[in-house]
Amino acid sequence: MTDIIKFNKFINTLGEIYALFDTAMAEFPFACAKQCSDCCTCNVTATGLEIAYIQHRLKGRALDDIRLRPARAGQSRRFRPLQTTNGFALACMEGRDTDEEENDPSWGICPFLEDGICTIYPVRPLGCRVMMSTTPCRQTGQADMPFLALTITTIFMQFVEHLDAGGVYGNFLDLLEHAENNILDCNGLTGKGNISGITPNLKIPALMIPPEHVEKTRNLVQSIGSIIR
Ligand code: SF4
Ligand code: SF4
Repeated sequence: MTDIIKFNKFINTLGEIYALFDTAMAEFPFACAKQCSDCCTCNVTATGLEIAYIQHRLKGRALDDIRLRPARAGQSRRFRPLQTTNGFALACMEGRDTDEEENDPSWGICPFLEDGICTIYPVRPLGCRVMMSTTPCRQTGQADMPFLALTITTIFMQFVEHLDAGGVYGNFLDLLEHAENNILDCNGLTGKGNISGITPNLKIPALMIPPEHVEKTRNLVQSIGSIIR
């Protein structure tokens, strides 16, 4: 299989995973609504493949727009993860301590937000999709996630990273800026070196599913597995 065919296959697979995630989350009574956007900050994360997905799916002016917005945001401080979800799973398996990473919404709003609405909503990365709450965050000052929903989002984070193993993970806006400079790695296909503030994606070492959710998530895990195969 050529790199182009392989790459298109990964892009389509990612779209199917997003669709499955949205369906799985529709089972929960989330309070999230249009123009509720306190969760839309400069701290969202993504994989390199997710950036490529956005670039593939957007056309014309929308595509030009994603090249301009990250720089327009101008925040100097953004959440830059030191490890990926699968990196965290690996650290837990190996009994290594992991540092709590600082992440503050006051560092700034996401530059893709316009009048409280996401301008790239259909193609937004999983890091945005997983932000949900059963009560409006503005009321409580935090997101309320049912425990099972949290497990399911973690499973999806692990698979989306796994799909792009060999690629990179980092702050969404940083990755967009790197992509613009053509130094973003997806699936290890472009094979570029280390970029500051960006972390390599890993394959799943083990799924982080609490014992009480193993049965409840079994079919879902099989469905994601069959999409990825
Ligand atoms: S996660 Fe919170 S701020 Fe974001 S849409 Fe849902 S309720 Fe609103
Ligand atoms: S990309 Fe869209 S959904 Fe994600 S944080 Fe920005 S405005 Fe919100």
